[in-house]
Amino acid sequence: MEDKITFLGTGGGRVVVANQIRATGGFIINLKGRQIHVDPGPGALVRARQYGVKAYQTDIIFASHSHLDHCNDLNAIIYAMTLGGINKKGILISTGEVINGTQKERPWLSDYYRDKLKNLIVASEKDTIKIGNLTLHTTKTKHDINTNIGFRLESPDLTIGYTSDTTYFDDLPKEFKNTTVLIANILRPGNDKWKTHLCGDDIVKLATEVRPELMIIQHYGAKLIKSSPLYEAREIQRRSGIRTIAATDGLSIPISGFKKRIPTI
Ligand SMILES: [Zn+2]
Ligand SMILES: [Zn+2]
Repeated sequence: MEDKITFLGTGGGRVVVANQIRATGGFIINLKGRQIHVDPGPGALVRARQYGVKAYQTDIIFASHSHLDHCNDLNAIIYAMTLGGINKKGILISTGEVINGTQKERPWLSDYYRDKLKNLIVASEKDTIKIGNLTLHTTKTKHDINTNIGFRLESPDLTIGYTSDTTYFDDLPKEFKNTTVLIANILRPGNDKWKTHLCGDDIVKLATEVRPELMIIQHYGAKLIKSSPLYEAREIQRRSGIRTIAATDGLSIPISGFKKRIPTI
């Protein structure tokens, strides 16, 4: 299987998710023979089928936090991955809130599907998880929830970064040191700042500091969709000098041509 990233949705924010203005199935990383499903939000299984992803080939599920648009279809993907629970397999990496719930909330992961997983990893920020020749470092976020994690996923060839939902903070670029391909969740355009998410200006700062080979934006709110994610990506590229793509639903980006970066920060 070719190394690539496939977007099963690029929507974020209440209006977009509720009306499915953009799909919300998360994204798939195919890397070194492994299939990783990141943030299976509403419609993950349907969008997998729609965009030619075989959900039963999933090896790892990463759910960054317990907001519905990031983990709602977690059990459905475990169902597909284990063929209805018959083949016990796969690894789930997520937060304590998603896996075990809180005093107020039940876990998103059902007891039934918990048993069908081969491995379950409760992660918090700054953890290091080794899976074969891949190493996943969880990264810090600042979001309106107790626990939330992004990641830096290292393979022998390249490093993929994912911000998850976060506002900008001074140390955010350091979390993505030496990242080759950086996927950032944006909510609003330009300088339209919001206290829990990144806007266009924040991504310019992030791209300028991290200097990845490729920046990909996704998780668009309604205002950004109206003002054009494509225009936003062009502006980010123009101002930062970093190649930037605005992901679209179903877009698949080959990543085998990228090489590991020489340390920049
Ligand atoms: Zn979100
Ligand atoms: Zn969120």
